[in-house]
Amino acid sequence: MTSSSPAGADRYQHWIGGREHSPAAGEWIVSIRPGGTEPLHEIARGDAEDVDSAVRAAQAAAPPWAAARPARRGRVLAGIAAGIRDQLSRLAELEAAETGKPRQQAEIEIKGAAAYFEYYAGLVNLPTGDIIDLGAGFHGYTRHEPFGVVGVITPWNVPLNQAARAVAPALAVGNAVVCKPSEHTSATTVELGRIAADAGLPPGVLNVVTGMGAVAGQAVVEHPGVRKVAFTGSVRAGREIGRIAADKIIPVTLELGGKSPNIVFADADLPAAVAGSVRAFVANAGQVCSNGTRLLVAEEIHEEFVDSLAAAVADVKPGTDYGHQTTREQFDAVLSYFDIAAAEGATLVTGGRATGEGWLIEPTVYTGVTNQMRIAREEIFGPVVVVIPVADEADAIGQANDSEYGLAAGVWTRDLARAHRVAAQLQAGQVFVNDWTAGLVEGPFGGYKNSGHGREKGVEALRHYTQTKFVSIKI
Ligand code: NAD
Repeated sequence: MTSSSPAGADRYQHWIGGREHSPAAGEWIVSIRPGGTEPLHEIARGDAEDVDSAVRAAQAAAPPWAAARPARRGRVLAGIAAGIRDQLSRLAELEAAETGKPRQQAEIEIKGAAAYFEYYAGLVNLPTGDIIDLGAGFHGYTRHEPFGVVGVITPWNVPLNQAARAVAPALAVGNAVVCKPSEHTSATTVELGRIAADAGLPPGVLNVVTGMGAVAGQAVVEHPGVRKVAFTGSVRAGREIGRIAADKIIPVTLELGGKSPNIVFADADLPAAVAGSVRAFVANAGQVCSNGTRLLVAEEIHEEFVDSLAAAVADVKPGTDYGHQTTREQFDAVLSYFDIAAAEGATLVTGGRATGEGWLIEPTVYTGVTNQMRIAREEIFGPVVVVIPVADEADAIGQANDSEYGLAAGVWTRDLARAHRVAAQLQAGQVFVNDWTAGLVEGPFGGYKNSGHGREKGVEALRHYTQTKFVSIKI
């Protein structure tokens, strides 16, 4: 909270140049508590002028930050992580209020945000250059240099965690950042700016401009001073951002949607596969890009598996195990897929409706589905899974890959050779065998096909926040 509106609501201003910054146009967006119409607080409605202020602040701050000894950057990043952990309770409450998710879940995700800063704090010395042998007359070497100002644009489903995922590696290698969080869930990212300043991050190295995607978000991408963009969100916005980036000739990391296959072979540990498959589709009320939403189950165990799945799903409690759909639009979109499923002739095993409380939706399982149906091809972004029988390994791989997406995939089998064989053939940026481990900080994360390109997380992300310079010296 930074000030009060005339009506007394909390107001979150932009965070630019190490301090609060009122919106240039003096306009605000009212955030609604998910599940109803109750206003929660207001956030600054940013425009191109605000973005310009943020980029200028970042441009001024970037050179000394890039020139600092890496260990100094590491100490600041570790301090940001400590600041997040110190304020965990308050941040979790705020994020739960904005997203509609249970508070304990928000705490876990925010601990994950701290973990990104801890992880990249430890890697600041990793991007060393190479010495290139050019023979006796020359000395050649490479340097991995930051881009200068990086734009980070994030969605509403896991707000602070996703901001940290991009901001931490960008800062670790010496970039300054202008971050534009989702207009639905901006508050904790604004708080990150303040926490970073308290941890000693120089003013202007991290700026947060809030506002609408088509205005503030687009202004970040279009600004000539922004030299790389990391975007997480929908395929639609990713395409628009990619077009602007192409005109500007700047690199983009696009983390987009998914319809991830989750293959259960007949030799799998079935109780583990059932429990893992439930977690894989209900996580965050289905509002996770990498959820396993297309279950491909060996036909010889299909019936037994569906019975066990339905029994396990009966124990899942909306409102406790996961929260509301975060936006009214998303709630309506998920409900519309129940009509589509009915029209397509799918068999509803369980769920298929809202609980009647706020924007909570029952965990939903469909069988009698083919991979050609819309409910098997489109990202629903709700707690909905379709189960499709597969004849054999080749069929499983074929159906898994028959998708415009390629973000994640799961494989459940006790056969190690099969696990490797299938993992190698799946068109997905990450494959989880015998556990759906989408939340890890250390493994590179990103998409094949329409799920995007570039990678976040892990050591690999550092490469995407630097550009390589080759230096040759005649000696
Ligand atoms: P969205 O694309 O509507 O919005 C994402 C962000 O982009 C928001 O900050 C928004 O304001 C901004 N934005 C929108 N249009 C823009 C434009 N033209 N120019 C610049 N910025 C713009 O997505 P959403 O509805 O917030 O999030 C849901 C989507 O995000 C789902 O499709 C989901 O799969 C995807 N997602 C992907 C990942 C991943 O890592 N791959 C993670 C989470 C969510």
